[in-house]
Amino acid sequence: MKKVKVCVVGATTTDILIQVPELPNLGETVLGEDYIMSYGGKGANQALAALRLGCDVTFISRVGNDYFGQLQLLHLEQEGLSTKFISRDKIAQSALAVVFVDQLGDNVISVAPGANMKLTLEDVQSAKNEISNSDVLLVQLSISQDAVYEAISIAQQSGTKIIMNPSPARYFDMKYLGLADILTPNKGELAYITSSSLDSKDAIIAAGKKLLTGKNTIVTTLGSEGAIIINKQESITVSAFNVISIDSTGAGDAFNGCLAAVLNRMPLIDAVRFSCAAGALATTKVGAQTALPHKWEIAKYLSENTNI
Ligand code: ADP
Repeated sequence: MKKVKVCVVGATTTDILIQVPELPNLGETVLGEDYIMSYGGKGANQALAALRLGCDVTFISRVGNDYFGQLQLLHLEQEGLSTKFISRDKIAQSALAVVFVDQLGDNVISVAPGANMKLTLEDVQSAKNEISNSDVLLVQLSISQDAVYEAISIAQQSGTKIIMNPSPARYFDMKYLGLADILTPNKGELAYITSSSLDSKDAIIAAGKKLLTGKNTIVTTLGSEGAIIINKQESITVSAFNVISIDSTGAGDAFNGCLAAVLNRMPLIDAVRFSCAAGALATTKVGAQTALPHKWEIAKYLSENTNI
């Protein structure tokens, strides 16, 4: 069977994590354990998620001309992802996230987005054929908005299906949100975009309905409560899978990469269920990229388990 072709436009980062006994107070220095370095960025995570689902993946991103950029490129190549459309910024640094985690699992994080915010129109245009020939375009909001707008415009003209994961929550022109075929906010992002407080399922559905344009479907993810599909006619709850969750980092990325991979292969409700299994499995391992499940793992899990 021909591979599903997915194009992801998004961020790539290096994460440095230090486990500390207590989070430092203002002006305080706290001695921590050895640091852990890993690779992330919503774009890279979702691209790898789709790759592990067996897709032909094009990843459009940008790194700096520095040490971390070199490492990021090497890492993605080792994972089997082509770096052909990852450009090098001569001035901006490669994105870096610094995370402190205390013994209770609470954390403070700061991200220097660097080159991710410098992804240019030209970078996206240079991959125009890739976007046009893809089955699905998958975008998030942790890169420059111009790049996101351009990718969406190209996909729309060529009939490529568009999944927009409006994450992290930040201002974005509603006109472009409306061009996505599927919008996948988590609960916090849905609350931000619709300026709503989402204290009940009805409130979530009402907020999702505010984003309907006639063309799109909203699939809002709710962590351990699964997901809700919202369209003009109905709202369908897809319950979560019961797993022993130890680290929820990257659950949304596993969900989105998986949804892009299976969207054209099955009815939407089945695709969301499959993606909920991917998200659930991602929470059973530590880390983001290391925890992204392969297609066979999801298939095996689904053959042995049903959602709650
Ligand atoms: P994000 O990481 O973007 O906040 P969510 O936390 O909503 O996204 O997770 C995405 C999907 O992963 C959810 O819709 C759900 O299906 C699955 N998931 C996340 N956390 C859990 C969990 N603790 N148990 C089972 N499934 C989960």
